[in-house]
Formats: sequence, C-alpha cells, structure tokens
Amino acid sequence: MTEHGEGSFDNYDWTCRCGNQPPTDGFYPCLKSGRYVPPTEAEWADGDLYRCARCDAVIEMDPDGGGRIVGVTAAAFLDQPQVGQ
Ligand SMILES: [Zn+2]
Repeated sequence: MTEHGEGSFDNYDWTCRCGNQPPTDGFYPCLKSGRYVPPTEAEWADGDLYRCARCDAVIEMDPDGGGRIVGVTAAAFLDQPQVGQ
C-alpha cells in the first residue's frame, strides 16, 4: 500500500483506487500538482502524469503502459474544468 491508495494499472487496463476506468470517467494529462494540461510537449512538462477524473489521484504512467498513484491533486486545482469541456 502507498499513502495515496492502490489501483490496478496493468498495461493500458487501468482501474483506479476509486473504480474509475478509461471508458467511464477516464484519466487526463496533468502536472504533479494535478492541474489539467493539454497533452503537448510544451505544457505537459512533467510528462506521463494523469489525473483520475473521479477521485483526483495523480497517476504516473510507466513506459509499458502500467502505472501507479504518485499523489493527489492540490486543493487549488480541484475545481479546474476538465480538458475538452
Ligand atoms: Zn480515481
């Protein structure tokens, strides 16, 4: 167990600690703070970090498509609109 809880992140088959999966609420590119960013090289500066759209966990994706929860979204960004809305 980590301090932020566990999920199951096998290859691209992700299930967050909250039960969220890509086809339901999904995961979106973010920075370490949890702030949503467009998935561009310039803005997605921390790279390979995704925020769970349901519980706001911050997940780092591994090169093989797996991942792990590395943090949670900072309070200042909890009310940010999702990318694409
Ligand atoms: Zn979640």
